[in-house]
Amino acid sequence: MPTSQATDIFRASLFKTEEFTITFELVPGRGSGGKRLDDILTFAEEARKDGRIKALSITDNPGGHPALAPTSLGIDIQSLGIEPLIHFSLKDKNRNMAESQLFECHRHGLLNLLVLSGDYPRYGFHGQAKPVFDLDSPQLLTLIERLRQTLSLEKMAPGGVMPLPAMDFLAGCVVSPFKTTKAEQVFQYAKLLTKVCAGAHFVISQLGFDMSKYQELLLFCRQNTITLPLLASVFIPSIKVAEIMGQGKVPGILFPESLVRRIRQEATSQDKGEEARLLRGARMVAGLKDMGYAGVHLGGNNLDFSKIAFLLDQAEHFTKTANLQELRQEVNFPTPSTWYLFPKSEQQDLPQRPSVLFRINQRVHDSTFRPEGLIFPLARAICLQADQNKQARSLYTFCEHLIKTLLFRCRMCGDCTLAESSYHCPQSGCPKRMINGPCGGSLHGFCEVYPQERLCFWVKVYQSNPPHHTGDLPNCPPLPPKDWSLQGTSSWLNYFAGRDHNKLDSEPK
Ligand code: SF4
Repeated sequence: MPTSQATDIFRASLFKTEEFTITFELVPGRGSGGKRLDDILTFAEEARKDGRIKALSITDNPGGHPALAPTSLGIDIQSLGIEPLIHFSLKDKNRNMAESQLFECHRHGLLNLLVLSGDYPRYGFHGQAKPVFDLDSPQLLTLIERLRQTLSLEKMAPGGVMPLPAMDFLAGCVVSPFKTTKAEQVFQYAKLLTKVCAGAHFVISQLGFDMSKYQELLLFCRQNTITLPLLASVFIPSIKVAEIMGQGKVPGILFPESLVRRIRQEATSQDKGEEARLLRGARMVAGLKDMGYAGVHLGGNNLDFSKIAFLLDQAEHFTKTANLQELRQEVNFPTPSTWYLFPKSEQQDLPQRPSVLFRINQRVHDSTFRPEGLIFPLARAICLQADQNKQARSLYTFCEHLIKTLLFRCRMCGDCTLAESSYHCPQSGCPKRMINGPCGGSLHGFCEVYPQERLCFWVKVYQSNPPHHTGDLPNCPPLPPKDWSLQGTSSWLNYFAGRDHNKLDSEPK
């Protein structure tokens, strides 16, 4: 069991304002050993000796493919004397498994976590794996925050009355400023506010190459008094990975065509463009440090530690000698038609007002389900009456199912959040069933799971009711996880009887 955080150089560095924190992302592949893992451990050993990298982050089944669990590699890395940062994604584990793995992490002293929804699960044993997404990232952050306090579990859980000792986790979250459409970007920032509200301790950006967008994220955080340490991702791709990312094949990654062309051109040199790619990374590090980031999160493929040491040496050199404004321009690769928050650009194709359908739905909803609504007292009295009788409950459930399936493609989860997503059902509309805002996987407005085919669910939400301000959007606190014991029951009855997330007082007044 962890006893002291004295050796946690990552935490110490992250919260020292004068320090620039550097982390590096490791990607364990499929399997439990072999050259790839040997190379990773060699990298970790050399990074520890060098001392500039303060944590090595370990991905959790990246791309939705099976790989060695990050906790396993985390234990090895920790034993080498360097701090692991465990990616904790939610695609493959339900809430109980998540809690169980948090206990496991704590047991092994793996206290630094990076919380993410995770990529949609892809192939595995005998085909595509079933996606879980029982919790989303704000909900997991909420659970971690409860574990950080002395947690006493729900009464129904075994041992529920027994308080657990506080677990000193440090939990980071991720945000992407690299969305090209306003609808995606506005919701990315709104979800960041939700994650901060849920207890995130630091923020790491998605990787990107548009310097104005890196700046935008900093400004957004300042404007919204987010004072958490903010790390910018700097990615050094091989030419092959650049080509793949350029084709939009990696969820949520916007890799500009102009940069793919540049990398192809550089690859004609004797070293296949390797030095040019490392120098670009070094310029980005120096430029982002100058911009005001608290650190950088490095990543890339085919990189042994000597290459990263070269990059860091060069970054230090640029910081001391280069004109950093000009340097930022040299590594700036914007994507045409991108929406920017500062200065605000408008996208003409987006609606400015709520749709007619939204307004009708809202009027019906508010008059029925808001305590001040016209029909509320009657609806409540009928529902509470019906709730007493098995046959009436069945009839009520049947009617609700019929109406809401036709109108909203409802899945009868029994805990309705239609009103929180502009009367679109996340249970049928979003493959990851995100109820607190989008995942980071969309690209050019399209869903990660159906690229170029289906708009991201949250883009549709935006289109139905465009918010006036990002601050109008975040759920704070986030909507809690669904109680799946309500699946198949009437959400109307559950609402009035105080069984759903609203926990309305069930006693008639
Ligand atoms: S609909 Fe949007 S939030 Fe849902 S999985 Fe697709 S990209 Fe992610």
